[in-house]
Amino acid sequence: MSISENLRNLQQQVPSNVKIIAVSKTQPVDIIMELYNAGHRLFGENKVQELLLKQSPLPHDIEWHFMGHLQRNKVRYIIPFISMIQSIDSFRLLQEVNKEAQKISRIVPCLLQFHIASEETKYGLDWNEAVEIFESPDYTTLQSIQLCGVMGMATLTNDPSILATEFRNLTSIFARIKENYFYGDPAFSEISMGMSGDYQQAIKMGSTIIRVGTLIFGERNQ
Ligand SMILES: *Cc1c(COP(=O)(O)O)cnc(C)c1O
Repeated sequence: MSISENLRNLQQQVPSNVKIIAVSKTQPVDIIMELYNAGHRLFGENKVQELLLKQSPLPHDIEWHFMGHLQRNKVRYIIPFISMIQSIDSFRLLQEVNKEAQKISRIVPCLLQFHIASEETKYGLDWNEAVEIFESPDYTTLQSIQLCGVMGMATLTNDPSILATEFRNLTSIFARIKENYFYGDPAFSEISMGMSGDYQQAIKMGSTIIRVGTLIFGERNQ
């Protein structure tokens, strides 16, 4: 099957209120164009250098989502065009995004990334770190970012009970943040969870954004 057929199959299984980000890391621009020509506009990358190399030649109405560990000294390169930064994993990163966005009078949509997996290596905040951000006096001065919700990566496992626990954890973090800091604010609405191996379960548990690479593009050459 072609990649646009893979995407169509996926779309048919996914409720229309759930956004599908095609995670195009390691994929060349001609492959991305195939999905673009089939009408898809939401793409995700996890490395700044790679994103810049693709963003410039590709059509500029693509909505790029950044979803990797973002170093503060690289923030300014993506701020002019990025649609959403899904991987805010520290207050200092959020402050840097705000600073660079302010310079060009943009308001950049962001998600807070939480550490929900059992693996040590995955980046992300825990609950206390998030509270520190919201309670910091500096937080209220950030006028050039828009926090839209949360993101998390579950453990790489087929065990549905582990996935359920981790997805439930992220959903409850979202609900607690919403209640305490965004009550009545419709902009804070996104739960980004679910990848090729676990998107069905993530959607059942409340995901609003899934990030799918392998299932659309095939296995990546690492
Ligand atoms: C690579 C990646 C994905 C997609 O993974 P697949 O298993 O190929 O669907 C999703 N989210 C993030 C943050 C990624 O880095």
